[in-house]
Amino acid sequence: MQLTKLEIKGFKSFGDRVVINFDEGITGIVGPNGCGKSNVVDSIRWVLGEQKVKSLRSEKMENIIFNGTKNRKATQMAEVSLSFKNTKNLLPTEYSNVTITRRYYRSGESEYQLNGVTCRLKDITSLFLDTGIASNSYAIIELGMVDNILNDKDNSRRGLFEEAAGISKFKIRKKETMRKLSDTDADLERVEDLLFEIE
Ligand code: ATP
Repeated sequence: MQLTKLEIKGFKSFGDRVVINFDEGITGIVGPNGCGKSNVVDSIRWVLGEQKVKSLRSEKMENIIFNGTKNRKATQMAEVSLSFKNTKNLLPTEYSNVTITRRYYRSGESEYQLNGVTCRLKDITSLFLDTGIASNSYAIIELGMVDNILNDKDNSRRGLFEEAAGISKFKIRKKETMRKLSDTDADLERVEDLLFEIE
């Protein structure tokens, strides 16, 4: 699987549409302090579904929308699209090219898309489960994360190995199933109460 393209529009310092193509090999982003290099990484984290604004170096979600400059008006929406070439069918989908998109409006509304079709965040996270690509996965390593891994803060090292070993999805499914079982238990108790009342 290869990352092929990143499109950013109205996200943080990117008022205009910016397209970054990732060719084969290593792509480096260089520029002076404050020019937006880390914002590029934030945009990747965000489109993958990051919900914690602190991880995006912001105080509130609205702050990720381009705020304008002296000469430019602020935008009403942030939009990021990330494209992958699904070589080796690593992603469980029939598409050979996969593009995920996230939009966020000042009104607070947001939208996710998979190849141009509106979907849920869950569809995107499920698609990338155990591929090593996620907003909090080892695909994006920042300074703080290196410290956390070395200090094994919050069992972070174990989480890393579980993701690499491909067992995260089973743990998530187990958690979902346990929740459904507990809901069903609660429903059964309610039915028993009702039966008792009727009798
Ligand atoms: P350094 O090399 O110092 O780490 P950098 O190139 O990584 O810098 P970033 O941290 O990505 O730079 O970008 C910081 C810039 O992004 C600041 O100038 C800040 O004003 C701008 N910025 C952040 N959020 C917004 C926003 N919502 N609207 C407009 N500009 C923004």
